[in-house]
Parts: sequence; structure tokens; C-alpha cells
Amino acid sequence: MAPAYDDQNIFARILRGEIPNQTVAENEHALAFRDIAPKAPVHVLVIPKGKYVSFDDFSAKASPEEITGFMRLCAEVAQLEGVTLDGGNGYRAITNAGADGVQEVPHFHLHIMGGRMMGPMVT
Ligand code: 5GP
Repeated sequence: MAPAYDDQNIFARILRGEIPNQTVAENEHALAFRDIAPKAPVHVLVIPKGKYVSFDDFSAKASPEEITGFMRLCAEVAQLEGVTLDGGNGYRAITNAGADGVQEVPHFHLHIMGGRMMGPMVT
């Protein structure tokens, strides 16, 4: 069974404004902010505003509007950070889920990383 959502996770606290963040972009359904420990020149986290633990939770339970809002914000971040193929050199978008995915924060998020050539996929 999927774990219950923990209201005290760090990203829930960021969404409530209890912890500051460096916001890159925001819309009705999602928030994008800089990773506190960036692994690349561009390292932005995009999170839905709803309470979803992981990708499977989000894709199963979020409304079409939430999913669209989330995806559009991811695309907007890539544009704003100058890493799209239309003018930039590309990027990597990944999500970690659960123990084997080494997910640290149990609120679904996508990492958008760029500004350098990424290494191998398995690390
Ligand atoms: P995960 O392993 O869950 O996919 O990644 C969690 C990410 O959240 C890590 O890259 C970590 O650096 C980042 N992170 C953890 N705590 C904070 C925080 O308080 N603020 C921000 N902006 N990022 C955080």
C-alpha cells in the first residue's frame, strides 16, 4: 500500500510558507523553486500544490487540470532557465520514487537539471 501523505514533509512546509524558497515560477497547480543543494548549474524542483507522495500517487489521483498545470510549469521552467532545445543545450527531468528510487522528500517532485552535460543515468 502507498504511504500516507506526511503533512510535515519539507515541501509541504514550503507550500505553507513555513520555510523560505527561491521561487522560479508558479501557477495555480504547481510551484517551481531552486534545489537547496544544486547538482547542476540549473537544478529546479517542480512540485504540485496538492498532496501527492510520489509519481504513481500523482498520476493516479491528480485531476487532468492539475497534471496539465504541473507539466506546463515544468516546460516553463526549462524555458526560463534557457535549457530547452530551442536556444539551449537541453536538460534532464527526473523523479525519484520510494526506497529504490532514493526519494528523500515524500512529496512528488520533478528535478529539472541542466547547464552542463549530465552523467550516466544510474548513480
Ligand atoms: P529526492 O531525493 O527526494 O528526489 O530529492 C529531494 C531534493 O530536495 C534534494 O535534491 C534536496 O537537495 C532538496 N531539498 C531538501 N530539502 C530542501 C529544502 O529545504 N529546500 C529546497 N529548496 N530543497 C530541498
